[in-house]
Amino acid sequence: MDRTVRPDKVPARLGGRRLVAVDTVEMTFLVEDDVQFRAGQYCRVDLGTLRWKDRKTSRKFSMVNAPSESDRIVIATRASDSGYKRSLDALVDGDPVTIERIKGDLVLPEKRRRPLSFIAGGIGIAPFVSMLRELDHRNALHDVRLVYLNRSASSAAYLAELLKLAEDNPGFEIIPVMTRDESWQGERRRLSVETLRSTHGEPRDYDHYVVGTPRMVRAAVDALSDAHVKRSRIHDEDFSGYDR
Ligand SMILES: Cc1cc2nc3c(=O)[nH]c(=O)nc-3n(C[C@H](O)[C@H](O)[C@H](O)COP(=O)(O)OP(=O)(O)OC[C@H]3O[C@@H](n4cnc5c(N)ncnc54)[C@H](O)[C@@H]3O)c2cc1C
Repeated sequence: MDRTVRPDKVPARLGGRRLVAVDTVEMTFLVEDDVQFRAGQYCRVDLGTLRWKDRKTSRKFSMVNAPSESDRIVIATRASDSGYKRSLDALVDGDPVTIERIKGDLVLPEKRRRPLSFIAGGIGIAPFVSMLRELDHRNALHDVRLVYLNRSASSAAYLAELLKLAEDNPGFEIIPVMTRDESWQGERRRLSVETLRSTHGEPRDYDHYVVGTPRMVRAAVDALSDAHVKRSRIHDEDFSGYDR
């Protein structure tokens, strides 16, 4: 019997957590029946009751695992002092949560027409981690370029894993950009037409996916538009909770 479900509310339990950068935690929620989603989509994680007061008991998070790992929902998030995040941090293994409303249009194209360009700011890397893991799982990790912007290397979630993936897959290139890291030997400039030309050659040759804070997404879309990339070839999603 196919036990794969895609209901609105999926009961789950915390299965574990690990640090993936400074103040950034990956959390694994195990589900009873297999759960279906597409790489790049997001869900709401509802804690039901909160240990610290907040206006809402849930937040949206992109899945970072590949859909082939259908017995779990894995998310990555930055710590904050909101009542929700403090309550999330206080969960212990086995604690119940509800995974709600899996959705999102930022997904891999059914058919690839051009090379893929991923542009991530900070924890905006989350949906790309799922996509890259999925492409790797399908042996289809080629013609993909990732520009990954962060303040510093220590705050860049999954950096080591992504660098390793690029080492193992010559068709996947990662350009880490650390805008405020004096010790960073690589690229430190923010996105602009000039930096896009140096990383992509001709940006019009790609389908672009952009995820980050609203401000970062706006800046990236503007730079791509300045480089004459058609709007229909830019797919973007902003993590609206990171606009402070
Ligand atoms: C599609 C999508 C995917 C996302 N994926 C991820 C992910 O993978 N990982 C991740 O870490 N985050 C993700 N986010 C963001 C996430 O949902 C949270 O918004 C974010 O983590 C901040 O949560 P918080 O509890 O720290 O802040 P919040 O308390 O939620 O504050 C967020 C914003 O709301 C404002 N605010 C706070 N209180 C009020 C109030 N009473 N009235 C009005 N405004 C208020 C704050 O000033 C702030 O700007 C995603 C968001 C979207 C939309």
